[in-house]
Amino acid sequence: MRKRLDRIHLLCQQNVPGLRLVNKQHVWWMRWLGWALKPVVPEFSSRFTTVIGNTVYLPDDPENLSPNMLASTLAHELVHQLDQQRYGVVFYLTYGFGLPTGRTMRAYWERRAYAVDLMLAMEAGGPDSVRRTANRLVEIFCGPSYFWMWSGRMSASEYLRPVVEDVLDGTLNTREPYRSILAAWRGVDPELL
Ligand SMILES: [Zn+2]
Repeated sequence: MRKRLDRIHLLCQQNVPGLRLVNKQHVWWMRWLGWALKPVVPEFSSRFTTVIGNTVYLPDDPENLSPNMLASTLAHELVHQLDQQRYGVVFYLTYGFGLPTGRTMRAYWERRAYAVDLMLAMEAGGPDSVRRTANRLVEIFCGPSYFWMWSGRMSASEYLRPVVEDVLDGTLNTREPYRSILAAWRGVDPELL
């Protein structure tokens, strides 16, 4: 597992110059944010990872997280970091200030990143695992975790469906950055996928 983490970490370092992994409990304003968000997202500090620029704010010291879990978290955050690099201020504005009603651009960015979680679920346990993960994501998308970024269970399920289908039929991992992430996860050359 450690080797897998090393490969994913290297991929992230190659794409995000100056990548830093930080325990968010050690950052005063992250602790403040965790306190402020507590009524709505009680697990912000203890479970959620936050990424801003080249810094990944983890819920614990990297050494205390399981290598597999850290590898999948870094892969998810890499999608955000690449989007942040590409779209700059547009990313932050649309991510941070989406209205907490109905539909938000935040859901668009998170769907791109959670595609990684679905792809890795496929790796771990095939279609059944993808469906279980998709059900969990429906709750995440329509619930308070990200301030109701796509409200309505049915609607969230519909919104996620195209990505779920792309994972199930294998088309997702023909596209970047998913292809490179999967190759690093497996430890193979991307050309061999
Ligand atoms: Zn995310």
